[in-house]
Amino acid sequence: MTKSREIRLKSRPAGAPQLENFELATVDLAPPAPGQAQVKNLYMSVDPYMRGRMSDRPSYVPPFEIGSALQGGAVGEVVASSDDALKPGDLVSSMFGWREAFNADAKQLQKIEPHDLPPQAFLGVAGMPGLTAYVGLTRIAEMKAGDIVFVSAAAGAVGQIACQVARIKGCTVIGSAGGADKAAYVKSLGVDAVIDYKAEPDLKAALRRAAPKGIDVYFENVGGAHLEAALDGARIGARFALCGMIAGYNNEKPEPGPSNLMLIIGKRLRLQGFIVSDHFDLAPAFVKDVSGWIKSGELTYRETVDDGIEAAPGAFLKLFSGENMGKMLVKLS
Ligand code: NDP
Repeated sequence: MTKSREIRLKSRPAGAPQLENFELATVDLAPPAPGQAQVKNLYMSVDPYMRGRMSDRPSYVPPFEIGSALQGGAVGEVVASSDDALKPGDLVSSMFGWREAFNADAKQLQKIEPHDLPPQAFLGVAGMPGLTAYVGLTRIAEMKAGDIVFVSAAAGAVGQIACQVARIKGCTVIGSAGGADKAAYVKSLGVDAVIDYKAEPDLKAALRRAAPKGIDVYFENVGGAHLEAALDGARIGARFALCGMIAGYNNEKPEPGPSNLMLIIGKRLRLQGFIVSDHFDLAPAFVKDVSGWIKSGELTYRETVDDGIEAAPGAFLKLFSGENMGKMLVKLS
């Protein structure tokens, strides 16, 4: 028997999640059954969408169960295998995060072929968040060279890649983030203008100043005042890729929407939501592009890494207090 520690949902958060909503438990792992492998996780991801799964309400993914280990992206190393497709030492990605080790059917594990990126990159720049940025801009917003592109939460996991993909594709880029350190980081990504929305609470005025000709594309990560400012600053025919609205994830009651939705009509805007898992067909093209851009130095990325399974709930809370720069990860081994 091998011991593994895991984080379980102890209670459903009301409003902003608290550390008390989580508990640490230890389980025994038997050797893997036929068709299974045992994996020791190296890194796990915490992601904003997990907040939705902590509430018991209908969504595109089922809610987490109280008393059960949470789930989420992880990369790990196979330590024992009873399936021919995997052998000890293989790197795999899975949805068995929030635990140090686990047994799973081989078909629930995606083997990561040898690569020059570090394993945790497959949870960030070369994984789900990077693909989200790529899908949102290239497929949903149909971004083209010369567009003026506005990205919110620009210092985060998705935002940092969105800013750079837009820059690499020949667009003018404006990023918004909270605080001077984050604004400096976004500027370092080669964008044309940065809005520190905490220092400039009048976002509409800030966006008009940063993009006097208006914006063609809005990559929406935040919602609320950001969406209202983007509608205000949109040019005729602008396209909005609605990726996330984190400002509202902890609301107990729905907030009133933007006061200027009528602009969608007069400006002939297109607002389209998307879920990255509907667009995995773009993953091979994305991984090829992003690996090349990293290699050539055109694209960089940051990670904020906390240590140990017991740090995972706190790492998750950082997404809402904005304490992460780039991709928020937990190192497990
Ligand atoms: P980030 O790494 O961007 O972390 C979240 C960031 O959101 C924080 O660092 C903070 O940045 C900002 N934030 C938090 N609360 C607020 C608030 N109240 N107002 C304004 N900003 C806030 O997370 P991800 O890159 O993983 O995710 C970004 C967005 O993309 C989220 O909305 C997420 O749900 C969405 N998403 C959607 C996917 C899809 O398939 N549609 C897939 C993946 C992500 P700051 O300090 O700058 O405020």
